[in-house]
Amino acid sequence: STPRRPLMAGNWKMNLNHLEANLLVQKLAASLNEKQLTDVECVVLPPFTDLRTVQTAVDGDKLLIGYGAQDLSPFASGAYTGDIAGPMLAKLGCGYVVVGHSERRQYHYEDDALVNAKVAAALANGLTPILCIGEGLEIREQLKQVPHCCDQLDGALKGLTAEQVTKVVVAYEPVWAIGTGKTATPEDAQEVCVEVRKRLVETYDETTAGQVRILYGGSVKASNVAAIMAQPDVDGALVGGASLDAEEFAQICRFPE
Ligand code: PEP
Repeated sequence: STPRRPLMAGNWKMNLNHLEANLLVQKLAASLNEKQLTDVECVVLPPFTDLRTVQTAVDGDKLLIGYGAQDLSPFASGAYTGDIAGPMLAKLGCGYVVVGHSERRQYHYEDDALVNAKVAAALANGLTPILCIGEGLEIREQLKQVPHCCDQLDGALKGLTAEQVTKVVVAYEPVWAIGTGKTATPEDAQEVCVEVRKRLVETYDETTAGQVRILYGGSVKASNVAAIMAQPDVDGALVGGASLDAEEFAQICRFPE
């Protein structure tokens, strides 16, 4: 089987101006040594307005920290006021972009077709999409989380080749666990992550599915990350609130210790 390098991605959401962003990245880099940053991939996902500053910090000091955006347009350019295109992110050195976060689905009415177009736009620009899927409380109470997440996965990956899918990172984020302090149990996380991987085996093949990194997201903290990472199909975490504190996020990235 392909060893999947653990990925810890910090979703800053709509927090931190470019000065604060610089400070956080510098502190984070100072808290992690080369071995830690080699064993575990550490990525920050700041607001668009911070990306140039983060690029400068990372390039200037050759920091082993990756970065990316929280969203992108499905289009490459044009009359789309307020939107940001994939080529712009690629030019800023972004390696990643979040696609289909539940907050985008909820507040910006993003559906599976749009999420699918955004995943394709990310890949077309050499960006790794961090594709978010996850069920709300109602679906969880009906115990329909697995079919719900597999449907979202199918919708988001429609039309992609197996080769493209190996470059996608999937983030399972139960909506009821985001920003609520309610973490899914490690077993809850594993249940959906293993079924997502099985779906990838069915749709593509074993090798492809074995290469895809699947993250868990939802109130991950330094105190619970190790138990979640001990699950065989969880390859990392998408971290919101706890990624705004450099020491806490560094500790999350040091989870193997
Ligand atoms: C997120 O928004 O992706 C997230 C997981 O948030 P939090 O860690 O704050 O629950």
